[in-house]
Parts: sequence; C-alpha cells; structure tokens
Amino acid sequence: MAASAAAPCSAGLSLTAVARVSPPPPRHGGRFELQQLCRRPAATLSSTPGNFNQTNLRRGDRIIRPASVVSMDGWAQLEAPVAVVTGASRGIGRAIAVALGKAGCKVVVNYAKSSTEAEEVCREIEESGGTAISFAADVSCETEVESMMTTVIDAWGTLDVLVNNAGITRDALLMRMKRTQWQEVVDVNLTGVYLCAQAAATVMMRRRKGRIINITSVSGIIGNVGQANYCAAKAGVIGLTKAMAREYGSRNINVNAVAPGWVASDMTAKLGEDVERKALETIPLGRFGRPEEVAGLVEFLAVHPAASYITGQVLPVDGGLSI
Ligand code: NAP
Repeated sequence: MAASAAAPCSAGLSLTAVARVSPPPPRHGGRFELQQLCRRPAATLSSTPGNFNQTNLRRGDRIIRPASVVSMDGWAQLEAPVAVVTGASRGIGRAIAVALGKAGCKVVVNYAKSSTEAEEVCREIEESGGTAISFAADVSCETEVESMMTTVIDAWGTLDVLVNNAGITRDALLMRMKRTQWQEVVDVNLTGVYLCAQAAATVMMRRRKGRIINITSVSGIIGNVGQANYCAAKAGVIGLTKAMAREYGSRNINVNAVAPGWVASDMTAKLGEDVERKALETIPLGRFGRPEEVAGLVEFLAVHPAASYITGQVLPVDGGLSI
C-alpha cells in the first residue's frame, strides 16, 4: 500500500500534499502564501532575510517573542526555531508539537489523515501564544515530504528542528505476517524517517545548525513478540540515527533517538486488557508512560542549550522496562 520512493503516493491521501492553516486557505499549487501564514497575529520578529520580517507584519499584528525561546548554542536569538513534527495529530506527536510550540518554536503539525485533530493541535499551540500550521503528508511518500519541506522553507525560511515521530503498527506473529504488513510498517516507520531526515538535513547543512530527534521504540532494542516488522523498523531507526550523527556532526547537526516504552495512546489502546496487564508486570514503575513524559525529553533535545553536546544517543523513556 505505501508508496516507494519517487512513485506516486497512495496511503489514502491526495497526490498533492495540502497545507492548511485554520481555517484552510485556498490552495496555491500545494502551497500557501506567506501572507496567509501571517494571518495569525503570532508572527515572530526576525531580522534574517528569508524569514518573517517587518514587511510581512501588518498594523495591529502582535509581535511575540516568547519568553521561553531558548538560547541555543550557535543559534540566532531574534527568531523562533522552526520545528517539523511528523505524526503530530495524535498521541506522542501531539504532545511534542504542543511542548515545542509552548517553548517558542514555530511548529509544523504533520499528519496523514486526521485533519480535524491536527487543526486542534494548531489551535492549542496558538492559544498558548505560539505559531503553528498543519500539513498533510504521508512521510513514506517522497513527493509529499518534499512538498512539506518546500512549503516550510518558503513560509518560514528555515528548518531548525525535525522530530520524526510518525509511526504505525501492523502486528502479527512472523509466521503469519503478510508482506503488506511488513512493507507498510517499514515504509512509514523507517523509510519515512530517512526521507524526512534527508530533506531536513539538506537545509540544516547549509545553515550549519539543526537538531533531529527520531522516535524509535524500546521494541527496537529488546524486541517484542508479534512485532517483527515494527522491531526491525525501529532498530533500523537507531542505526540510521547513529550514522546520521556521525555524518552531520561536523555541520553542527545533532541527531538523537528517543525510545519510549509503553505509552498510553491510540496505538496502545487497541492492545486489549490481557496484553496491557502483562505489559504492566514488566515495567518497574508499574504504569504506562504519558505522551507528555516523552515530549519533555524531546523538547530538551530539540531546543535546550544543555543538549548541544549530545548526539548519536538512544534515550529510553520507558519506566525502567529496558533495564
Ligand atoms: P498514534 O497515537 O497512533 O499516532 C500516530 C501518529 O502518526 C498520528 O498523528 C498519525 O496521523 C501519524 N501517522 C501515521 N502514519 C503516517 C504517515 N504515513 N505519514 C504521516 N503521519 C502518519 O501513535 P503514538 O503512540 O503516539 O506513537 C508515536 C510514535 O511513538 C510512533 O513512531 C510509535 O512507533 C512510537 N512509539 C509509541 C509507543 C507507545 O507505546 N505508544 C511506544 C514506543 C514508540 P493520523 O492521525 O493522520 O493518522
């Protein structure tokens, strides 16, 4: 089902990725114009060509420089970091997008199908004084990823943070696992990370700064019954993270992975009581994690100055599961 690189994409999406603000603007060949992005009064003052500047601001616009915009090592201070969070309409991605928005980032809320939920995430960020847009793009589809990244650069002139969070499960014992179940999970959970990271790194390399955080899983470290496809993809993300950290370190781009254990979300809600009970017995802290508990670490890695010397690491947020 999921498309291979450069092929027309399926996954229930239209061929053209659609960028939206709330309410949705008219289409402009798959992009929307800067003026529409500036519709929200939360434009951040920037003195950098290519980013928002005073000519993009209209009389009456509030100029917000959130107090929490952090002083990142080597990062310009006059502008808010631009962050793309994939799979940000629900669950862990939603919590990450909200945390980054509250920390002062301009956030792209990527999703595959849940446009209403993505709009709600944008609204929550905007209500807290931040800036956000939603963007429908299947991360396993090269053309849609390119369209998303081009839109971000056209709109905000840069990309500072990428959080590769989008993920799916298609669980089955290996004996019964169909090729489609294998392929869909690898396409979204691993190839999607490769496509987004490659596109983002191209921009970050030119600017010689950037932070990429890949959401892997404890399953990719210790394995899990019925998830051979998922474990393989998530282990692949760990290898990809380490290779990228080595390749991009000299360009001041930090690449790390965060490995959640069991976290309460739509993904785990479908597991059933029996699996849930057994899972709880394996967690030293005796409970599932909350999306916000993953988001806190991601926010630290994404924008905190103290994270500037951390790269190539895999950091579990798992209540002790992987000890
Ligand atoms: P979730 O609640 O099921 O949300 C998944 C998100 O990914 C949704 O926003 C979904 O968008 C998006 N998505 C799915 N396919 C996509 C695609 N092809 N392109 C773009 N976006 C896509 O999942 P979650 O539990 O929050 O998990 C988030 C990440 O954490 C995943 O990578 C997952 O593997 C990882 N993780 C989760 C747990 C856990 O216990 N929950 C544990 C370890 C790791 P739509 O809403 O539009 O479908």
